[in-house]
Amino acid sequence: MHCTNCGTELITKEVINEGMVPYCKNCEVFHFHKSNIAMISAVRNSDKEVLLLKQNKISKYYVLVAGYHKKGESLEQTVIREVKEETNLDVADVKYLGSYFYDKKDTIMVAYTAYSKTKQFSLDKQEVDDAIWKSLEEAISLVREGSIAQQVLISLR
Ligand SMILES: [Zn+2]
Repeated sequence: MHCTNCGTELITKEVINEGMVPYCKNCEVFHFHKSNIAMISAVRNSDKEVLLLKQNKISKYYVLVAGYHKKGESLEQTVIREVKEETNLDVADVKYLGSYFYDKKDTIMVAYTAYSKTKQFSLDKQEVDDAIWKSLEEAISLVREGSIAQQVLISLR
């Protein structure tokens, strides 16, 4: 293993309670296991409906707004940016719900609710084919059974 920053071959060094961890002598930095970070957001309106998106290329199921974290952002900023990019909605009141580990993509999914004043979205057709506002119970039945999206929605009951 080499340092992702400077390319120096890593040694292992003990960290108390963590065991032996890869270490770069040049950068003087430990390289702990890193998963990818993404957010998933239940966007709601004043009628307490939830925004569902459909990406036909990817899945026949509806999904929640989700996206990967970019360096330099808080996760709340990731939520605001992704919702804007995909639906052109401006969300506020971004609140943490919980976190989930998505094994298949080695990704920590951090879940938030976000509030949109308006229901009027305009979709980025590159990324999203369709979107609908649905009641919480309807939304739960329209996402894939057992998915992280469904777990997030159930946590809002
Ligand atoms: Zn280094």
